[in-house]
Amino acid sequence: MKAAAFDYCRADHAQDALRLLTEHGGAAKLMAGSQSLGPMLNLRLARPAHIIDVSNCADLRQVALLDHVIRVGACVTHAEIEDGVFEPLRGHLLQQVAARIAYRAVRNRGTIGGSLAHADPAADWVLACMAMNANIEITSTKIVRKLPMREFMLAAYTTALADDEIITAIEFPLISEQTRWGYYKFCRKTGEFAEASCAVLIDPVARVSRVVVGALDGPPGDLPVIAHNIARNGLASVSFEDIVDALSTIAPNKDLIDRKLYANAVRRSLALALGAVESI
Ligand SMILES: Cc1cc2nc3c(=O)[nH]c(=O)nc-3n(C[C@H](O)[C@H](O)[C@H](O)COP(=O)(O)OP(=O)(O)OC[C@H]3O[C@@H](n4cnc5c(N)ncnc54)[C@H](O)[C@@H]3O)c2cc1C
Repeated sequence: MKAAAFDYCRADHAQDALRLLTEHGGAAKLMAGSQSLGPMLNLRLARPAHIIDVSNCADLRQVALLDHVIRVGACVTHAEIEDGVFEPLRGHLLQQVAARIAYRAVRNRGTIGGSLAHADPAADWVLACMAMNANIEITSTKIVRKLPMREFMLAAYTTALADDEIITAIEFPLISEQTRWGYYKFCRKTGEFAEASCAVLIDPVARVSRVVVGALDGPPGDLPVIAHNIARNGLASVSFEDIVDALSTIAPNKDLIDRKLYANAVRRSLALALGAVESI
C-alpha cells in the first residue's frame, strides 16, 4: 500500500514549522526522519493533508552545553549522537543508547525528537530520557514550556503535545563522573524494538538512584524500592524474586513469564551499572 496523497512542504526553521502548523490546524503532521511516520503513512494509519518536513531546520539540529544541562535539538539524529558529532555528547551515556537503536540505516535518519513524539513504549529514547530525568522543550507560536519526561508521555503513542506544538529540544541534566549507568534491552534480533528493557542510573554526587523499566504497555515504570536498596546496600541486597515482585506494581497485567523477562533486564542492567560485569 502507498500513502494517501498529501501536500509536502519543508521548513527551514522551527518558526516556519510552527507557522505552517498553525496555518493548517489539525490537518498537518510534522515529519522528521520519517522512520515511524513513513510506515504509518504507507499503512494509511495516518492520512494528514499536509506534511511539514522539519529535518532540515538548522535550529533544531544543534547541541549545546549550558549551565546545568546538555540541550539536544529535536532533529539531531540517532547516528549523530552515536558518532559523537557534537562535542558535548562525546563520551556521554547517550552515545551508548543511540548505538543500540535499530540498525544504522534507521539511525541515519531517525531523530530523538521524532522518537519521543511517536512515544512507542519500547523506544530507547523514551526509557533513557526517563532514567536521565530529561526535560522536553515544547514550543508553540505563543510559548515555550518544559515538561519532565515522566509528564510528557501519557500513554502508548500519546503525549502531552498539543496540535500547534513541536518538540524543539531535549535537556539532559549534567551527571557526575561517578555516575553508574546500566542499560539492557531484550530483543529477538538486532535492529528490533525491545521486548523488555531497563535503565539504571546511580549518581552518588547528586544522591540520585533510578531503576526504570521500558517496553511496558504504556510509559516506562520506576522501581523506587529496588533503586533505593541497591544504592544503599549493593547488588546482593536485592534478589531476583524481589525484582519480580516489585514488577507487579508497574506491570500488573503481565504474566509470570513476561515478568521474569523484565526482571532479567533489570538484573542485567543493575549488574552493568554496578560493575559486576562489563557487558552481557
Ligand atoms: C525497522 C525499524 C526498527 C526500529 N527499531 C527501533 C528501536 O530498536 N528502538 C527505537 O527506539 N526506535 C526504533 N525505531 C524507530 C526509530 O527510532 C524512529 O526514528 C523514531 O521512532 C521516529 O523518529 P523519526 O525522526 O523518524 O520521526 P518521524 O517518523 O518523522 O515522526 C514520528 C512522529 O513524531 C512526530 N514528530 C517528529 N518530529 C517532531 C517534533 N520535533 N515535534 C513534534 N512532533 C514530531 C511526527 O509528526 C510523527 O507523528 C525503528 C524504526 C524502524 C523503521
